[in-house]
Amino acid sequence: MKILTYPHPTLRHRSQAVRRVDAELHSIVAEMFRLMYEARGVGLAANQVDLPLRLFVANLISDPEEGEEYVFINPVIDHRQGMEEREEGCLSLPELYGKVKRPESITVNAYDLHGQEVTAEVDGLFARVIQHETDHLDGVLFIDRLSETGRLGVDESIAEFEFEFNQQRERGELPDDAAIAVRLAELERKYC
Ligand code: ZN
Repeated sequence: MKILTYPHPTLRHRSQAVRRVDAELHSIVAEMFRLMYEARGVGLAANQVDLPLRLFVANLISDPEEGEEYVFINPVIDHRQGMEEREEGCLSLPELYGKVKRPESITVNAYDLHGQEVTAEVDGLFARVIQHETDHLDGVLFIDRLSETGRLGVDESIAEFEFEFNQQRERGELPDDAAIAVRLAELERKYC
């Protein structure tokens, strides 16, 4: 398992609700945490590791020894309040940052790995991470939410990511879109 880089098509896949949690899914989640810490991220969504599942992991201080580990399965956001602009980055767009406006506080409802339903009102960084990761599950990236001028500032880096991706495809290092879609459909049949 590895973290996919933009513009891998799975990053644009709309994830399906998870209906089954088994031992394999537990080990998938453990591996997602490991990859997130390795990349020093605070959140990682399943489609960033090529899985079509509606779940993400988070640890706000990105430290397995100290921070709290959260697993959000089938998250739903509502009661959005306020608006705040903050800089964001993404493990699938390394070293690219931009200012994104998002609601300041939200209510999130989700399930954990043990099937427990959790509803929480959150704000600040936690609210931002939850919104960024839930966006991923809908195939939305933070670069889609930049202002027009913000987008202009990152256009060149985005073109470089696209160029590099196409090079990798030409070298045969990445499967084609059809092969990716077949794999995602198999996983959906298993878990969704
Ligand atoms: Zn991201």
